[in-house]
Amino acid sequence: MSEKSIFTEAVHAGEEPEKHHGAINTPVYHTAIFGFTDIESGERIHNFEEEGYFYSRLGNPTQTALEKAAAQLEKGGDALAFSSGMAAISSAVMSMVRSGDRIVAPESLYAATRALFNFLQSDWGVDVVYVDATHAENYRAAVSSNTRLVYIETPSNPTLRITDIAAVSEIAAKSSIPVICDNTFATPFNQNPLSLGATAVVHSATKYFGGHSDLSAGLMVGSSESIERARHLTARLFGGAIAPATASLVLRGIKTLPLRVERHNGNALAVAGFLENHPAVTKVNYPGLESHPQHALAIRQMRGFGGMLSFDVGSEEKARRLVNKVRLCTLASSLGSVETIIQHSVSMTDAKVSTADREKAGITSGLIRLSVGIEDAGDIIEDLKQALD
Ligand code: PLP
Repeated sequence: MSEKSIFTEAVHAGEEPEKHHGAINTPVYHTAIFGFTDIESGERIHNFEEEGYFYSRLGNPTQTALEKAAAQLEKGGDALAFSSGMAAISSAVMSMVRSGDRIVAPESLYAATRALFNFLQSDWGVDVVYVDATHAENYRAAVSSNTRLVYIETPSNPTLRITDIAAVSEIAAKSSIPVICDNTFATPFNQNPLSLGATAVVHSATKYFGGHSDLSAGLMVGSSESIERARHLTARLFGGAIAPATASLVLRGIKTLPLRVERHNGNALAVAGFLENHPAVTKVNYPGLESHPQHALAIRQMRGFGGMLSFDVGSEEKARRLVNKVRLCTLASSLGSVETIIQHSVSMTDAKVSTADREKAGITSGLIRLSVGIEDAGDIIEDLKQALD
């Protein structure tokens, strides 16, 4: 089939009604085990010599449908679906590195991913070097003969820094080093890291893929080789497979992902423009604004700038007052959902990040992270305005 618009792909990706009595939505295979017809076939399926299912930690048809859909949207060879974004990230990372290896990672990234890297460094003998990822050349300088993974998160959480995926991937490819890119903020609607040279993409599907703050899930998409390795090593052994019922909810979320993200993009741009002109706001981080230091790069590698932004109100006291004053925005610790979600970074997600690391990532005490929802942009702005005023 020729490549279709993502609006069309999202509705049909992963669905194979002919395999499920014509069911338009892949049924939830609520089962932990699958019976064999005979020992010979059971043996072959068990040894992955014949296609089939036998135990849901190792695969389930509802999970497969989601994996096919994710692979199609992210333009990868294959995919794996997990019970959370961190299950996807830890499984992807640990399928590629072992003790004695080096990971080159960005200074600005999701706090729990940083904690995972720090844990690998302190307890597992992995060397982690953090670089200012806004300059691709910094990756080149940090790559050593023992580097086995280059990690990117763009736009980054929570300061929306942009990394040049193509340039970093080219640097890594010269030394045959795989590149993992966290594409949670952008979603495949706005950006396809695999098409820019990354080896694998990871997602917190808890966010835009699910889209409704009602599930926890993760995805890894990549070359068939990288997925096969992760499937047989970390995915199956760590056992973080997605539950079939959750896989079904993520599949449903995918059908409206383009519609939602198109609206998130428009709303976030409008809100960012409003914030930039409000006297109580000292700085706005949004790649769609001309004032963003990497706006030109964002235009080059993204089709839209996403629903995430952050802004500074000058002090922790003002930030705490603001998040207590909003009425429409929900004060909560997640993002990527239909409702607008606000949080104060240093007292919530980034509370455990050291002061020195916060400084490097641009996480100030007055920083507010905003996940702009799909409500009316005017209503979101009105709520922020009354709180800021
Ligand atoms: N990556 C990013 C950019 C995130 O923001 C998050 C969670 O906030 C994760 C990964 C982890 O995902 P999860 O919470 O689903 O484990």
